[in-house]
Amino acid sequence: MSQTIPSTPSILSTLGIQNSNPGAWVGPEALSSGGAELSSVSPIDRATLAKIRTASSADYQTTVARLEKAFQTWRLVPAPIRGNVVREIGDALRARKKELGAMVTLESGKILAEGEGEIQEAIDIADFSVGLSRQLYGKTMHSERPTHRMYEQWHPLGIIGVITAFNFPAAVWAWNAMLAAVCGDVVLWKPSELTPLTALAMHRICAEVAARHGHPDIFGLIIGDGPALGQEIAKDARIPLVSATGSCRMGRAVGEAVAKRIGRSLLELGGNNAVLVLKDADLDLVVRSTVFGAVGTAGQRCTTTRRLLVEAEIEGALVERMAKAYQQVPIGNPLQAGVLMGPLINERAVAQYFAAIEAARSQGGEVVCGASLVEGLSSKQYVRPTIIRSKKVLPISHEETFAPILYVTACKDLEEALAFNNAVPQGLSSAVFTRNIQSAERFLSHAGSDCGIANVNLGTSGAEIGGAFGGEKDTGGGREAGSDSWKQYMRRQTTTINFGSALPLAQGIKFDIGLS
Ligand code: NAD
Repeated sequence: MSQTIPSTPSILSTLGIQNSNPGAWVGPEALSSGGAELSSVSPIDRATLAKIRTASSADYQTTVARLEKAFQTWRLVPAPIRGNVVREIGDALRARKKELGAMVTLESGKILAEGEGEIQEAIDIADFSVGLSRQLYGKTMHSERPTHRMYEQWHPLGIIGVITAFNFPAAVWAWNAMLAAVCGDVVLWKPSELTPLTALAMHRICAEVAARHGHPDIFGLIIGDGPALGQEIAKDARIPLVSATGSCRMGRAVGEAVAKRIGRSLLELGGNNAVLVLKDADLDLVVRSTVFGAVGTAGQRCTTTRRLLVEAEIEGALVERMAKAYQQVPIGNPLQAGVLMGPLINERAVAQYFAAIEAARSQGGEVVCGASLVEGLSSKQYVRPTIIRSKKVLPISHEETFAPILYVTACKDLEEALAFNNAVPQGLSSAVFTRNIQSAERFLSHAGSDCGIANVNLGTSGAEIGGAFGGEKDTGGGREAGSDSWKQYMRRQTTTINFGSALPLAQGIKFDIGLS
């Protein structure tokens, strides 16, 4: 295994991160942050990477006021010209992909390939948004009234508040910010307190490009040491759309606060994703994709495979193959080549991993493998990926535990597997493995999977940006990234033009006041 590990000081210094970084930024300018100090601690070895002086309430007010002002001019820039700025942002991210990817790894603990993959996702959505900047189409429709024309147009919305989770510290902001920018909006980012340096690096690179084009204030960043700034955003009527990614608990709080002021929210919350395996499935495909889905990112993706619902005839054979594959997963420093699984984000996550395993045991689950720490590594946050098998559905399997635990349940048939798939409160991602087209179509039908994502013969995680991403039920109903997700970042206006000299009313209503 190669030992070429990028040095932390060189990653930080290339990205301009110093030891006491301000936590409030409007474009490339730092505000004189007056909040408490926040340390960014790497889950790899618990080393402090750098410190942040968090944003104060005064910084929050200044940032929002400057964004409001910036919106007045940015919205007037033609969309394709806005797209050109985003094109250069994509290029700037391309030029720094390696360092930014390593920064993601240092702060979130995901392996380098996934850290860089996350920056690639930010580049992809920038590219997508450039094309979109010439395709913000509205419909025209035929009016029921003679000499009238009707159409819809889409206008910029204003400040988009973006609250992000630790596990996608760069890509989720980019999904929102790149679309918002071409739509003519300005963006206020409140990143996770666990990954502030990635946010700082992403923000500065992107804001510098916008500033070069004469729009220094379209991106704002406020870093806090907890949820307080996110709560401010949720309450703030100057922010018409709040896009919030994180736990269902957070989404409930944000959704409620935004609804109270009749704002819009776009919620991307927890998942509890199942793979259904039918007896005619290609088990090689199942094992490969499920190991990636369940173990990748140490089980800390919203789309992580958490449940394996298997037709009873093949359950024993599949569990055996999965357990064998699990023994071969290289666990260790995620910066190191060849490692496929890094640490959990913090000690709390480790405690939740053990608590879920304990609950599963007490509910009748059999631990097939895992359920322990990996000793001798650089922190006590490296856990073994775990498989838990049970004859009945375990209540704990209805909760999202953000760790690599896979619950395997034998099912009678596709119908029972589908019922189990849909029985959880969350509705993000799902997959079926089968060679039978009828079974695949049954799974995809309107009475099939109730999730926002439903795949056939590939796993639950690893979405492309071209499709709309998001889920139903407690996952929040939001859709981000591709397809027509952009519509959420704009306001729709329906326009009717009368080019005649009569005034016919809709629905044929007569309202003649007899003016002569
Ligand atoms: P979290 O809910 O603890 O925090 C997410 C963000 O919300 C952070 O920035 C946090 O400071 C903020 N926050 C927390 N409480 C808040 C409140 N009351 N008001 C306003 N802001 C608040 O989540 P996490 O541990 O960082 O991330 C893991 C969770 O995120 C998992 O549940 C995962 O499934 C989910 N997630 C979902 C998606 C998706 O697209 N559906 C993507 C990534 C992560």
